[in-house]
Amino acid sequence: MAQAPGNLFILAAPSGAGKSSLINALLERHSESNMHSNKMQVSVSHTTRAPRPGEVNGEHYHFVSREEFEKLIEQQVFFEWAEVFGNYYGTSRVVIEKTLKEGTDIFLDIDWQGARQVKAQIPDTATVFVAPPSRDELFRRLTQRKQDSDEVIEKRMHEAVSEISHYHEFDFIVVNDDFDSALNELDAIVSARRLRKEKQVIRHANLFANLLGK
Ligand code: GDP
Ligand code: ADP
Ligand code: 5GP
Repeated sequence: MAQAPGNLFILAAPSGAGKSSLINALLERHSESNMHSNKMQVSVSHTTRAPRPGEVNGEHYHFVSREEFEKLIEQQVFFEWAEVFGNYYGTSRVVIEKTLKEGTDIFLDIDWQGARQVKAQIPDTATVFVAPPSRDELFRRLTQRKQDSDEVIEKRMHEAVSEISHYHEFDFIVVNDDFDSALNELDAIVSARRLRKEKQVIRHANLFANLLGK
């Protein structure tokens, strides 16, 4: 894809590390963005896993059957897709391309397999790995979220090691110990990416033409 004005971010982490909470808090913080900065949104993935209590179709995920998902793979609807914890998860291609083109930043909450596929297609994606402060704390967060069964939590703790083993493939690492500190660090990454010359010359083409008297 040609250089688009929007910035693409990936947040990956073992389940329970706090990705969704961080993305939501960041969106909240930026909900009143001024005219000089990009809008921000989170990509809504398709998944074959069952909705958790409170999860809304089309808002948290597009919940589909395995058959439907496989049909979407065939139709090349996905920018990337992967099997995680025995379920399919995938990111829609059109949504990503359209969002970046219109100058909106987009966050993908996807696993390391998806991060690899996206980075291969859009090398200037900023990939962020969110680490929990300890194994014990990861377990505590998964348990207190009260949204998964004991069996699922056990499985996710086991899978955490495999997700964490890919930490070195990411551009940035944020340790989510104190939430506000982690949020500030994530915000700093976003600001730095937005301010790159390559993005600013597109965003402020008219400003520079004006400043130069053209
Ligand atoms: P969470 O770990 O509590 O956020 O649990 P989820 O069920 O929301 O996500 C499960 C896993 O699937 C995580 O590792 C996500 O990063 C990954 N995931 C979610 N959406 C996508 C997607 O669109 N593509 C890929 N490749 N992975 C995804
Ligand atoms: P993920 O999306 O990575 O699976 P969540 O954002 O759902 O993780 O967070 C898992 C749980 O941990 C939630 O209950 C959330 O409120 C809590 N949590 C997230 N970050 C922190 C933090 N820094 N300190 C304490 N609890 C946290
Ligand atoms: P959960 O089932 O807890 O919502 O998500 C489990 C894992 O799947 C998380 O690590 C999440 O980041 C990942 N995930 C969610 N959506 C996608 C997606 O579209 N693509 C990929 N590759 N991973 C995803």
